[in-house]
Amino acid sequence: MENNIKLTREYHVHSVYSKNNHGKSTIEEIVAEARRKKLKTISITDHGPGHIMYGIRRKLIPVQRREIDRLKEKYDDIEILMGVEANVVGYDGQIDIKDSEKKYFDFINVGFHDGVKFVDNKSFYNYHVMKRLSWMKKSTKQKMIDLNTNAMIKAIENNDIFIITHPGDKIDVDIDRLAQACEKTNTVMEINAHHPHLSTEEIKIASQYNVKFSLGSDAHRFQDIANVEDSIRRVKESGLDTRRIINID
Ligand SMILES: [Zn+2]
Ligand SMILES: [Zn+2]
Repeated sequence: MENNIKLTREYHVHSVYSKNNHGKSTIEEIVAEARRKKLKTISITDHGPGHIMYGIRRKLIPVQRREIDRLKEKYDDIEILMGVEANVVGYDGQIDIKDSEKKYFDFINVGFHDGVKFVDNKSFYNYHVMKRLSWMKKSTKQKMIDLNTNAMIKAIENNDIFIITHPGDKIDVDIDRLAQACEKTNTVMEINAHHPHLSTEEIKIASQYNVKFSLGSDAHRFQDIANVEDSIRRVKESGLDTRRIINID
């Protein structure tokens, strides 16, 4: 097992565009820190607009694009990408990025989150009510897991998704089935440093399939960019072949 894993491409960072002071740093501060840490790629991935508390305002998506394009002209020693951490907002696989908005993004990540405005009552029920009922009966819990897993699989089948962020966090999913779908759709699974998923055990399950993994700091302030110590710990514990991680040297 390789000892010096160094993250060189960061695909999960929040900026001040994640509203209500959720992301603390400006894009300029994030880029400066990424250059200081000698990253090859830095990405800005604010919460999708379906997140009631923290989502980027739709009207600011083109504004963020222009700001990032301006910084790309200013700095030629680092790749700067504009992504988004989209939300599953419908159990039919709907995400909160409209087709007309997709052109602004270099890539789209997706994850489950609390505090999301669901598109219908059924999806709200599946997420919030089933989660609360699931502790009562094993069969209810399994049904909830199946529903969540199906929703995420549809989301990655129906949209061109780069990375699933923190799979298994916020709400339970079947990592085995999800990994099979990631293999089919060529979707990366994140080992998130800020949240405990994928866990060591989940990495072992997912790595049975031909899927790639990313490490993500999920930084909400520039100082935390590329800090993925906890992800690296889980990678080592799981024995994952590091050649399957897309963003390290
Ligand atoms: Zn997240
Ligand atoms: Zn995030």
